Amino acid sequence: METTSLYADWKKIYPRYQSGFFRSLRLWVYGLELAIFFLLPWMRWDRPAGLPDQAVLFDLPGRKFYIFSLEIWPQDIFLLAFLLIAAAIGLFFMTALAGRVFCGYMCFQTVWTDWFLLVEKIFEGNRNARMKFDHAPWSGRKAVVKIGKHGVWLLVSAWTGMTFVLYFGDAPQLLGQFLDGSVPFAAWFTFLFLTVTTYIMAGFAREQVCIYMCPYARFQGVMFDEDTIIVAYHPELGEPREANRRKRNLLGAQVGACIDCDSCVTVCPTGIDIRNGQQYECITCGACIDACDSVRAKVGMASRLIRYTSLREMRSGKTQWLRGRILVYTALLSIFLGGIVYYLASHVPVEFTVIGHRQPLYILQSDGSIQNNYTVRVLNMTATPQSYVLTMSGLAGTRLTIGAVETYSPEGAPVLEVAPGSVTPFTAYVRQESAHVESGRRDIVFHLRAVTPQGGEASYQSVFMRP
Ligand code: SF4
Ligand code: SF4
Repeated sequence: METTSLYADWKKIYPRYQSGFFRSLRLWVYGLELAIFFLLPWMRWDRPAGLPDQAVLFDLPGRKFYIFSLEIWPQDIFLLAFLLIAAAIGLFFMTALAGRVFCGYMCFQTVWTDWFLLVEKIFEGNRNARMKFDHAPWSGRKAVVKIGKHGVWLLVSAWTGMTFVLYFGDAPQLLGQFLDGSVPFAAWFTFLFLTVTTYIMAGFAREQVCIYMCPYARFQGVMFDEDTIIVAYHPELGEPREANRRKRNLLGAQVGACIDCDSCVTVCPTGIDIRNGQQYECITCGACIDACDSVRAKVGMASRLIRYTSLREMRSGKTQWLRGRILVYTALLSIFLGGIVYYLASHVPVEFTVIGHRQPLYILQSDGSIQNNYTVRVLNMTATPQSYVLTMSGLAGTRLTIGAVETYSPEGAPVLEVAPGSVTPFTAYVRQESAHVESGRRDIVFHLRAVTPQGGEASYQSVFMRP
């Protein structure tokens, strides 16, 4: 019985390495991205004594992230949420403006795949040589070349996995632990997981990730409009295509400018023919532009058949840059970035909460005064011990005292001592003299001010309960 597969067979793509303007541009961007990724864990940053000096450190056990001068506590988690939302809107903005340009120039999958392809080219040669080599029977030389290539791929993958792990601990110390085998299991696991996934994704899955696995690739089409910049072939210039030089000479103006050399197809990392029109597989890398320009320069034909353009520009000669979705994304991006800037500018290194005791709600003293008890929790987010003066307002004739606190400011307010990076609870007693007591609850505000300006200050609204 004959069976028919519903799926097309996977065919290995052998993209030809093509130099040119966009290839150089991509190499610069890739280089910058790789340099940042691999060097950042080794960069030091001047912080107060007691804090880690790694510029970017995601300290999971300490539940703190250090990003240059920023110190992100679990309380600041919404800042991370804002950053992620801003990054997502930035990506939408970029896609609406220039299509899959992020995929072609910045995505880690593309960058690592290109790196692996470069290694493959060094070991096995450019496209034709690689195809020939793959189809040749096994020999000693072939085995040595393949082992060499896969060895370098594995080294790059391991270096990638290791670097990722170094963001989560002191880099020199972690590296030493890796070398002497004393690194924690979680670090080993992450390292091995990333080594294997990098090796598979960049070495084997390659364009399959961009075409089938990446969820972003599936829905970014909705961000496109007719003014989005895409890579497009100009059929009005290129068609009808003709490869035969004799026929071209004979037919003259009856043939288009495309010489059907297939260069644009052989360089494409996703294996598509851009002459068939816009396709979602296109990652806007510009390799086909470099290929076509180079071929056409060789045969002395100037017109650019493939270029970055928009559907509207192809139709009417002009792209409309300022348009609804661009303005909406710009506005949203400004709001979220503005929110982040505002938060950072107004951020104080101390947080405190005041929770009124429920049992009892208030205590009626023998002299007629009313007492409320509270639990005050103070979080010192600096790297040094801090002394805070606690006061309150909003209620006449009151006295605020703290259990187990013996130090009071010259004005008679309790002074709370809190160790760096820790939360300390205190029990506060607020007593209102009988002469001032009225009935019902009353809003009050607690104020916390560090003795040194670096400690910051904060307020907390609470209530005072009365019969
Ligand atoms: S069609 Fe051109 S721009 Fe698109 S992925 Fe292929 S080579 Fe890159
Ligand atoms: S590289 Fe240019 S000339 Fe060659 S087939 Fe592609 S579009 Fe035609």
